[in-house]
Amino acid sequence: MAEPEVDPAPEGQPALGFVKTVPNRCRICYTCVRTCPAKAIRISKSQAEVVPSRCIGCGHCIQVCSQKAKRIVSTLYDVEAQLKSGARVAVCLAPSFPVEFQEEMDFRVLVGMLRKMGFAKVVEVAFGADLVAERYRQLLCEQPYNQFIATTCPAIVTFVERYQPELVPFLAPIVSPMVAIARALRMDDPDLKVVFVGPCVAKKAEACNADIDGGPDVAITFRELRYLFLRWSIKAERVEPSDFDPPHPSLGALFPMTRGFLQAASIKEDLLANEVVAIDGIKGFTSVLEEFANGTMEARLLELLCCEGCIAGPGLSSEETLFKRRERVSHYTRYRQSQLDHEEWQRHVDRYVGLDLNRRFTPDDQRLQPLEPAALNEIMKKMGKYSEAHELNCGACGYHTCREHALAIAKGFAESEMCLPFVIDTNLSTIRKLTHANQKLASTQETLMHSERLASMGQLAAGVAHEINNPLGVVLMYTHLLLEECQKESPLRPDLEMIVEQANRCKRIVAGLLDFARQNKVAFQPADIREVIRTSLANLATPPGVTVEVEHLDGSPRIELDRDQIIQVFVNLVGNAFDAMPKGGTLRIQSRADQATLTVEVKDTGTGIPKENLNKLFEPFFTTKLMGKGTGLGLPVVYGIVKLHRGEISVESNPDPSAGPTGTTFRVKLPREAKRQGE
Ligand code: ADP
Ligand code: MG
Repeated sequence: MAEPEVDPAPEGQPALGFVKTVPNRCRICYTCVRTCPAKAIRISKSQAEVVPSRCIGCGHCIQVCSQKAKRIVSTLYDVEAQLKSGARVAVCLAPSFPVEFQEEMDFRVLVGMLRKMGFAKVVEVAFGADLVAERYRQLLCEQPYNQFIATTCPAIVTFVERYQPELVPFLAPIVSPMVAIARALRMDDPDLKVVFVGPCVAKKAEACNADIDGGPDVAITFRELRYLFLRWSIKAERVEPSDFDPPHPSLGALFPMTRGFLQAASIKEDLLANEVVAIDGIKGFTSVLEEFANGTMEARLLELLCCEGCIAGPGLSSEETLFKRRERVSHYTRYRQSQLDHEEWQRHVDRYVGLDLNRRFTPDDQRLQPLEPAALNEIMKKMGKYSEAHELNCGACGYHTCREHALAIAKGFAESEMCLPFVIDTNLSTIRKLTHANQKLASTQETLMHSERLASMGQLAAGVAHEINNPLGVVLMYTHLLLEECQKESPLRPDLEMIVEQANRCKRIVAGLLDFARQNKVAFQPADIREVIRTSLANLATPPGVTVEVEHLDGSPRIELDRDQIIQVFVNLVGNAFDAMPKGGTLRIQSRADQATLTVEVKDTGTGIPKENLNKLFEPFFTTKLMGKGTGLGLPVVYGIVKLHRGEISVESNPDPSAGPTGTTFRVKLPREAKRQGE
């Protein structure tokens, strides 16, 4: 026998409610909120907790929780206390007991186990059901024009009292079979203590309901009874089997099944006459009660069960299908019927004819009072619901409509994070923002690394250039002196000229290095980009066969920049373009501006750049040019200057004639207003 999950209330303390949340087990999936017909669950601190004043004790939240985060609060200590007190204690088993125990043991063994625990009497609640069934028959005969809601299910009664209080006058004023059997037993033995064992959580509350006198002293579930057997080491094989104590029941044993009550009371659910409506389950009973409240139902008697019959109650540990459970109860009832001494049964029934089976009800309105529309709309807005189109009423939060959800938020029962579409929207926008931030971070990091590399290379270059410049000057000066002294035809002359040429080359490299190293300060000044481009072009001789076209397309040509540096940018870009068009071509420089940026494209129809070189272009000393022609410092200088201006440079190139006209475009984007470092 597996240990049943039982969570006793602290000893000596009355339980506040009969369903509790196991701390930290709840993963807030809202399934319990969706299931709860009373919306008695409060989401708070990431836990779904049951609010006792709203709970009707149906126990569905226990059944649907995949995390087993909801437990029945046990009253088994009270049973133990009764047994130990020395009082005479009767135990009454609800008629669904075959569902719990029949597979494992004969009912006589079960009775033997209960006697072994010390119960003075072991009785079937089903006899109480027989008495109650008879009272219903009488009630319907005596008041043929009144409508009634049957009150055998305590969860339904509490639901009506709390959520349909205007229907309280329709509740049949008859006690449940549990109370009926307790009163019957006390009629014979007024000091008797009575313990009820059943499949139901709501029975625990019914047992201590102030509107009902003479009910059982304590009610526990079958799960708890199993636990008691364990705690008291009561073993089936060590007990003496015996039968239940009288009074034995008749068809009252059918009560735990939907329509079983009707059969026991010989009331027909005649579909043509539509006099009696029997409905079970949460969806069924809530909608029937709503219709009944609207006055659109003619039925004289509503037989409502909160579960799909008591055989599906949360206090049962069985995992069998509903049909199997029904079979177990029918099978047991058939057997007992075949053994029943009808005359003796009638004698017992007659004995209790005068027994008071009446009860009262007290409306206890727990409906959430509506909010001012403006206040409700404020809450709706916080869930991203600005218009009716946003109200999906998807039910994912557990509430039927978005407005019901908003009302529950206002009353402190729910949170806006329960709205799935809202959470998804919020998450998506957070992801978008993060992705954007991430991209920005990555590009900043790349720029930073590049600048760092350039900065350290710059330092090195500056140092080297400085050291080389002076000796180079000396070499050139002395070579020129020698050349002046050298005869025109002297064989030394070509050698000296070679020294001058190579020394000049060194000078160019050194100048490039110094440019590269100097680019850390920008002196912004207002300029006209057309003039800057013009001046840059004037610095270079256009090679033969090359056409140069310059045009300013759009927007203002005015911009703030470091004129000398930007001239250097264009001189380098144009110089490279000329180098790439040895057989002639067209160089087109186009500029355009919008409010914030100015873009210049330097486009050539040259050889293009192979793909594998594209990401090396801006590295210092990368060159494909012949020795003496290229230094590989032009583009790094360009890159550095553009970045110092907080601009961007990109390149597109096609080196493959089969893929279209070859050529390269460098695109430089500069902010029109100076953005200085740190801004
Ligand atoms: P250098 O001009 O001294 O080689 P750069 O840094 O200016 O150094 O250019 C690096 C390399 O980039 C060049 O050697 C060349 O291979 C390539 N390059 C730059 N601009 C162009 C262009 N417009 N067309 C083809 N290749 C180019
Ligand atoms: Mg160059």
